[in-house]
Amino acid sequence: MTKPKLKIIPLGGLGEIGKNMMVMECEDDIIVIDVGLMFPEEEMLGIDLVIPDISYLLERREKIRGIVITHGHEDHIGALPYLLPQLDVPVYSTKLTQGLISVKLKERKALSEAKLRVIPSGGQFTLGKFRVEFFPVCHSLPDSVGLIIYTPVGIIVHSGDFKLDYTPVSGKPTDLSRLAQLGAQGVLLLLSDSTYAELPGYTPSERVVGETLDHIMADAPGRVIVTTFSSLISRIQQVIDSAAKHQRRVFIVGRSMSDTTRMALELGYLNAPDGILARLDELKGMPHNKIVFITTGSQGEPTSALVRMANRDHRQVHILRGDTIVISATPIPGNEGLINRTLDNLFKQGAQVLYSKVAQVHVHGHGSQEELKLLLNLVKPKFFVPIHGEYRHLSLHAKLAQSVGIPKDSTFILEDGDILEISPQAGKITGKVTSGNVYVDGLSVGDIGSVVIRNRRMLSRDGIVVVIIAVNRQTGKLVGRPDIVSRGFVDTRESSDMLDESRDLVARILDHSGDRPAEWSFINTKVRDTLNKFYYEQTKRHPMILPFMVKV
Ligand SMILES: [Zn+2]
Ligand SMILES: [Zn+2]
Repeated sequence: MTKPKLKIIPLGGLGEIGKNMMVMECEDDIIVIDVGLMFPEEEMLGIDLVIPDISYLLERREKIRGIVITHGHEDHIGALPYLLPQLDVPVYSTKLTQGLISVKLKERKALSEAKLRVIPSGGQFTLGKFRVEFFPVCHSLPDSVGLIIYTPVGIIVHSGDFKLDYTPVSGKPTDLSRLAQLGAQGVLLLLSDSTYAELPGYTPSERVVGETLDHIMADAPGRVIVTTFSSLISRIQQVIDSAAKHQRRVFIVGRSMSDTTRMALELGYLNAPDGILARLDELKGMPHNKIVFITTGSQGEPTSALVRMANRDHRQVHILRGDTIVISATPIPGNEGLINRTLDNLFKQGAQVLYSKVAQVHVHGHGSQEELKLLLNLVKPKFFVPIHGEYRHLSLHAKLAQSVGIPKDSTFILEDGDILEISPQAGKITGKVTSGNVYVDGLSVGDIGSVVIRNRRMLSRDGIVVVIIAVNRQTGKLVGRPDIVSRGFVDTRESSDMLDESRDLVARILDHSGDRPAEWSFINTKVRDTLNKFYYEQTKRHPMILPFMVKV
């Protein structure tokens, strides 16, 4: 009898930050851990979101027993509205995570079909050959869990996103005793969060932020505007607590922030003393030093409430001189440009702006090196796979594992699509499956391929040249000089000689193409090649060249 083998296949989140998705497969059973999205990088022009390619799962749909979600951040649940309808399997999560998932699904009208199952932290459930147990981990939102997965080959621990804050604001600290227990029992494989594997020491406690907020609420001469992620429930709680202490009332601004806080209040994950939350129509006449706004926009998202307030484009709230604005979030890589523009805009309007570079208004939710080492020491896994991070994070995390005694050949640095096969004795990377980015642009999902992105990049870098070629309908011969229209390529006045020369060049090559009317595809290629070369020689640029034929 052959022993069952277990396959670990990351479909997202390894070799990049975001769109976390991990597949575990044992014979006829598959479970999927997290279904996240990624915000586009600056060079993915015009793309709204990036989600994982799930071709591998779609080919094996009947084997999938369920989706398990560790917590409600976008990089773990954000692709559900797009992918859940295609997979149509139950989704297991804790209560708050389910609430956040529901808000997301509802926005995309995918809620009614969804089978959402709530499992309490500490609870267990069975999915085919897998038995999954949730254990509490501390992260920047409550009800986050790590996973203990009992499989036919051994016990697997998946950390989810975690840190070891012993004094969290809301939610529980990471359950270290449960992990130590498992470590003594014997863990086959640990998968652990690498997001902050670059940082030495320990991540500061959330309490630090609470203290900073207290000072701000006490000292700010006017209104305080705090911007953060709508999923950062513990931060929202801190703002409410601190506002209450300083007799300020709290206005929640923006749809996603309102939806999330309402849900978290209903489920009991947020507590607001009576009378502290106010409606925007109560704003009039209220003294400025009694006001706190909580809103989104920490990433400079153009449609967020903060950016609209900064641009005087918000219906109810504008930035005023004397406002204190607190940006309580880490910039997501790729968003720095937008964030900096928003900061400048706010400063220009006379607001005081506090962000993590100038005040301790945010701590992140991931463990630093000493915390990662502690987890490795407690769990004492036979095999180790660093997860959630770009290659350098994974690589540094692997080095940390080696420093606490896990042999190098028991540590596997995987990238998206790799298949790691493990048995109780050995692990090996045995192949690769389809993986990659699916782009979401406006309403369309997936029909934006890499060619579209490449074209957008080309247009943004060197502009476009349209060549209009008029030919005689009967003879197929060139009529007059070709016309050239360019945008974003060169200053058309300064370079008019050069552009003129290129018109002559096109006329010349078309005249030389013989007596018989040339094929359009031939003309097309010939014009593009010639102009490409000519323009590059003249300008060292590669504009997109688009020949057009008009029959006259
Ligand atoms: Zn997270
Ligand atoms: Zn994450």
